[in-house]
Amino acid sequence: MKRGKTGNNKFLKRLNRMTILNVIREYGAISKIELSKITGLSPTAVGSITSELQEEGYIHETGKGESKGGRPPKLLELKPGSYYSVGVDFDVDYMNLALVDITGQVIDQKSHKVPKWDSVENVAEKLELMIAQIINKHSINRQKLLGIGISIPGLVDLNKSEIIMAPNLGWKNINLKSYLIQLKDVPLYIENEAMASAIYENWIGSCRGIENFVCINIKSGIGAGIFINGKPYRGVSGTAGEIGHMVVDENGPRCGCGNFGCLETLASAAYIEQRARKMARQGVSIKLSSYKDIDSISIDDVAEAARNGDEASIDILRESGRYLGMAIANTINMLNPKRIVLGKEFTKYADIVLDTVKAVVERKALRSPAAVVEIIASEIGDKASTIGAALIPIKELMEGHSCT
Ligand SMILES: [Zn+2]
Repeated sequence: MKRGKTGNNKFLKRLNRMTILNVIREYGAISKIELSKITGLSPTAVGSITSELQEEGYIHETGKGESKGGRPPKLLELKPGSYYSVGVDFDVDYMNLALVDITGQVIDQKSHKVPKWDSVENVAEKLELMIAQIINKHSINRQKLLGIGISIPGLVDLNKSEIIMAPNLGWKNINLKSYLIQLKDVPLYIENEAMASAIYENWIGSCRGIENFVCINIKSGIGAGIFINGKPYRGVSGTAGEIGHMVVDENGPRCGCGNFGCLETLASAAYIEQRARKMARQGVSIKLSSYKDIDSISIDDVAEAARNGDEASIDILRESGRYLGMAIANTINMLNPKRIVLGKEFTKYADIVLDTVKAVVERKALRSPAAVVEIIASEIGDKASTIGAALIPIKELMEGHSCT
């Protein structure tokens, strides 16, 4: 696209603002002299942009830097509580919300149960209500809301901000924005759930400064968010990371995708719960059989039973770990990542299964890539994708998320 001189200037100015904000974020607190050195912008340009950013409230002066003779320079940092963003994570029967400020600090979190297979109209209505509640509770002016990030367990179109397919929600070709009436003026960003987790881990979580890593989320399905050379890897049509459909047993159960023995038919949290309920009904597990409502046995119940020595529960969980280990070994051979972070429901039973996963990887992966990879459970339990979604509007402000 051809840009006129004015368009070009505007574009450059926006780019310089983004760069400065992002450097300030990365360094925590920084002087104008250092900003000029790092960004390569002239001290005059840095002075003009930072004054503008200060006036608009994005940054403020804090403390004083180290003096090298003369007056110590004033340091600039992102201004806590100046601008906000909301992240929403959808799954089969709940939506989680997180309110964060421009510094990435989590101000509040909420969880709301929703009926399975609810209509988009109903979900959008609840979403608007919940966002209004959380914003009003903290007396946040709408003008200070940078945007809303939505994490979806499925395929998304970043350019159109549309949900292409979320099989576990029963949604197909949905433009969520068109259902939001109260929030129609607020920027909305849709992201795949595992990638939202990867964005969290990359910005403030366990993968800061790590360029090549994979986040694998285990819940009703299994998906991966991949970062290569510090950038999200999405593939040609945005479907990269569908690790849940990696075949780990060709004689395994039929998957929703039509194939047999996909990883998520043998290692998802939904599958573990289903097997545990079956075993409870058959009386194989004494602990689980004693539950009053077998149909509501959850992954937490299975993990607790395993921790209390229930052999059947330990077996179910470790078997899922073996399949997961196989898929991870293939991923390691293929991508040679530095770190693999296992998230969502996995964090509820990581203490029982992580060693099994690592043992399988040690047996199945090639020695060289296996020697440099670290496999860990996400440190913030199942909240990474919610907070990651909330970081997206901030990332847009500083990096142009949709461009990555
Ligand atoms: Zn499949």
